[in-house]
Amino acid sequence: MVDQAMTYSLLSVAMAAMSSVLSAGSAPGDTCESWAMTGDIRTAPGEAAEAVLISGERVTAVGDASLADALPAECVVALPEGAVALPGLHDGHAHLLGVGLREMTLNLEGTTSIAELQTRIKSAAAELDKCETLYGRGWIETGWPEGRMPTAADLDKVVKDRPVILVRADGHAMVVNTMALKRAGITKDTADPEGGRVERDEKGKATGLLIDMAMPLVDDLLPKLDEDRRREGLKVGAEKMASLGWTGVHNMSVNPEDVVILKEMSAAGELPVRVFNYLVPGALDQVIEQGTGCTDDDMVCTNGIKFYVDGALGSRGALLFHDYADQPGKRGLQLMQKEDAVEAFQKAYENKVQVTTHAIGDKGNFLVLDWYKRVLGELDATERKAPRWRIEHAQIVRPNDIPRFAFYGITPSMQPSHAIGDLFFAPARLGEQRLLGAYAWGRFFENGANVVGGSDAPVEKGDPRIEIFAATKRKALDGTQGENWHPEEAVTEEQAIAMFTTNAAYAVFKEDRLGRLAEGFYADISVFSGDPFETDWNATNALMTVVGGKVR
Ligand SMILES: [Zn+2]
Repeated sequence: MVDQAMTYSLLSVAMAAMSSVLSAGSAPGDTCESWAMTGDIRTAPGEAAEAVLISGERVTAVGDASLADALPAECVVALPEGAVALPGLHDGHAHLLGVGLREMTLNLEGTTSIAELQTRIKSAAAELDKCETLYGRGWIETGWPEGRMPTAADLDKVVKDRPVILVRADGHAMVVNTMALKRAGITKDTADPEGGRVERDEKGKATGLLIDMAMPLVDDLLPKLDEDRRREGLKVGAEKMASLGWTGVHNMSVNPEDVVILKEMSAAGELPVRVFNYLVPGALDQVIEQGTGCTDDDMVCTNGIKFYVDGALGSRGALLFHDYADQPGKRGLQLMQKEDAVEAFQKAYENKVQVTTHAIGDKGNFLVLDWYKRVLGELDATERKAPRWRIEHAQIVRPNDIPRFAFYGITPSMQPSHAIGDLFFAPARLGEQRLLGAYAWGRFFENGANVVGGSDAPVEKGDPRIEIFAATKRKALDGTQGENWHPEEAVTEEQAIAMFTTNAAYAVFKEDRLGRLAEGFYADISVFSGDPFETDWNATNALMTVVGGKVR
């Protein structure tokens, strides 16, 4: 049991102790030639020190507390009792703009029933201008007493005079009301777009649920995502991630114009996290032309392209070899075909553009591995691992396919929190057999893969405490685990730290300067009020982050 009051008072004492020397955007380095952080400092997976010495943006030494002895008092930041410093944590898969937009639109996270959803949109609609579209995000029907997804009819009951568009937490489905269907021109005769599905009732009438590529059908009803809104979204998103304790983000499905905005933000000193960008497939030629690489301070990088092979498990869009256990006849969506994929991957390889592909289902993962093999298969061991290709999610993989990741040097970029959200429905959807290779972090480690951890925010909250808890406990936040949820796939503290530090740095080709606190590495540090590996997930708070020697 966590004593909230106690946590808060410890936190404020800690903040007061540190704010005497530190405030956001500054560093003791501004006035001190070198400064030190002392206390419980984990410098790398399985390694610790009592002090880190920092000069400018880099670490100059790590060692015992005596490192700080020669420094004037104002150049020493002593961590409060119980606080733990980790090498700067990287969220290995998030959508920065989406995180910001989540903060800027109706946030439906934590909605516990269709009834509550109705109450929330009714009161939100009351606050909007007449006719304005009500746009929300973050609902998920897992555990709802109604036992189903919401429909247009549910929404119509409370709001029918304006369009309502509510995106599911996973971003792969949305429910809209009848007004939105009407305004978007979706009728009985509207065909399913490629890679998407308009859900229909027995009579063929749209129910209001739009899956994957059917979602853009209502694009015209949404607030225009112009440059100003993007800029604000990226700023809000980056600040949110920093406040949660991250120092770096692998930013997925990015539009090229966002990289330009991020670079401007960074130059203006307004970017509190490092951002490693993986752009949308349509940007491949542009990336080839303009080249990959980072700003001089490694704050903003263009790494590569993120492709998609399938959808998500929650909306039954994940591509499976066999039918969904709870919906015979359905095997998910294939969003990319072999010829296009291999051609694009080959082109990326020849132009040194890193490739990553979203793959959730066992067939989705199999296909991507196979297509990667078409490009990498003839190369020797060193060469085929050199481009460090990745698969995002690697969520349900046939056990036989798991060793292929290490063989080709492919990073499985996995989201611990997905496993603790999905544990409520995945067994029914997949059946026991397929759970053997589902969210199999432990097995990937055993096979020598470079497992990276991420949150997929805004699909999940994007909180490192939750990711660490999920990875090491493999239990829902309330302690639920359920039968057959393979507790042996949980990882050790060392492995969890690696997922968010050293392995994440390796995946973006920065293992020589990021991911650990050592001489010559960037001074990137995530500080928590307690030990996130020892406490319940919410008993510890993110106290501060340091990026490139500056407090953020
Ligand atoms: Zn994602």
